Amino acid sequence: MPRRDCGAAGDYRGRRLMLPFARVSIIGLGLIGSSLARAVRAQMPGVTLSGYDADPETRETVRALRLVDDMADTPGAAVIDAELVILCVPVGAMGPVASALRHDLPADALISDVGSSKAAILSALQEALPDHAVIPAHPVAGTERSGPEAGFASLFHNRWCILTPPADADPNKVAQLSAFWEALGANVEQMDAAHHDLVLAVTSHLPHLIAYTIVGTASDLESVTRSEVIKYSAGGFRDFTRIAASDPTMWRDVFLSNKDAVLEMLQRFSEDLTALQRAIRWGDGDALFDLFSRTRAIRRSIIEEGQDDARPDFGRSDH
Ligand code: NAP
Repeated sequence: MPRRDCGAAGDYRGRRLMLPFARVSIIGLGLIGSSLARAVRAQMPGVTLSGYDADPETRETVRALRLVDDMADTPGAAVIDAELVILCVPVGAMGPVASALRHDLPADALISDVGSSKAAILSALQEALPDHAVIPAHPVAGTERSGPEAGFASLFHNRWCILTPPADADPNKVAQLSAFWEALGANVEQMDAAHHDLVLAVTSHLPHLIAYTIVGTASDLESVTRSEVIKYSAGGFRDFTRIAASDPTMWRDVFLSNKDAVLEMLQRFSEDLTALQRAIRWGDGDALFDLFSRTRAIRRSIIEEGQDDARPDFGRSDH
């Protein structure tokens, strides 16, 4: 697999390059926030990390694991001297968290985030912090797990990180944030927030909606017992259950914040599903075969581009 080696960003470890940011604050240390902390520790050990999480148990775990230098008990205390603040909380909490730290945020700090939808977050952050530079970002990397113990340092290696700077963003700050994500092993791309939301609606949000639906449908069937669903799950259902095990808070917020794009893609999907229904009803084997051949080629391209693993367990046994 053409995954980037962990040592690729080693120039920062050897401190030959100037760090994009010397003091970084991470708000929300669940799966993504704790992975970010681990990745910064591994690739940019010169960076001073501070953090805050609303959950006292998570704060204790982060302290025990020494994921950051200073785990604060309030959002304000975590950002007091930060150059970069990255919000890693559920999408619906982004605006309230930004408001909570407003009075303690240094005037020249850059605010970013890792949320899965972008247009709603950009407006929420700009509304909460009208005098600060805001550049949203979305690392397209994750798992179905949650919490600080689920994170790992290589999560962002060879994964895309999409920056969605507002039109008037300072190009130097955009370049600094790109350098930060590249140092963590990510490939950085820039796009407009609305376009991001449309692309991710089809590549991520709709597949999650389908997985939640199909697992819900199977569990509601009266003619098939629950034990049969579990016993024969290898027939395709099992992969849907992995996606449908994803965090309920996170995904509730994603659908509510990316409503228009998801509804648009859902409409397209429903039309395509109806066409398949017709092909099955009328015995149109050619239509089915053509579609299944096209989709197989897409899977091959994803593996060739290093965005997934061809092994039957998708390489998950590696971590
Ligand atoms: P997670 O593991 O549940 O972590 C989120 C953490 O934020 C939790 O510890 C949560 O505490 C805390 N939190 C919630 N509200 C807060 C607040 N107001 N102030 C401070 N901390 C707060 O979730 P995650 O998977 O890391 O997701 C975080 C963000 O990353 C989301 O915006 C999501 O859309 C985005 N993202 C996720 C993935 C993925 O695959 N998981 C991929 C890319 C991007 P509680 O448990 O007490 O609520």
